[in-house]
Amino acid sequence: MTRLMETLRRLVRPTPPACSHLDQARSVEPRTEGCEECLAIGGTWVELRLCLACGHVGCCDLSPNRHARGHFAETGHAIIRANVPGYTWTWCWVDEIKV
Ligand SMILES: [Zn+2]
Ligand SMILES: [Zn+2]
Ligand SMILES: [Zn+2]
Repeated sequence: MTRLMETLRRLVRPTPPACSHLDQARSVEPRTEGCEECLAIGGTWVELRLCLACGHVGCCDLSPNRHARGHFAETGHAIIRANVPGYTWTWCWVDEIKV
């Protein structure tokens, strides 16, 4: 009976996809004030993303160089946060969900 209830509950309200990468997230300080790679090459960015595994700061997907995505491709650091004052959310690159 209990199992049936659980099954029914799952059918009615499916649980959202879970992210298993949150254990990568630590309390990190941004390593740079802007996108680390853009600062090195004199590039520009739209918004910044902070890697919560190592403190790397990279530019978002709307920026020409997309260094935040590049940092994930290089390191596998999946959890980033929007590094914009007053506007924060956390994103997992692997699951492509806000977590
Ligand atoms: Zn994840
Ligand atoms: Zn960049
Ligand atoms: Zn990182």
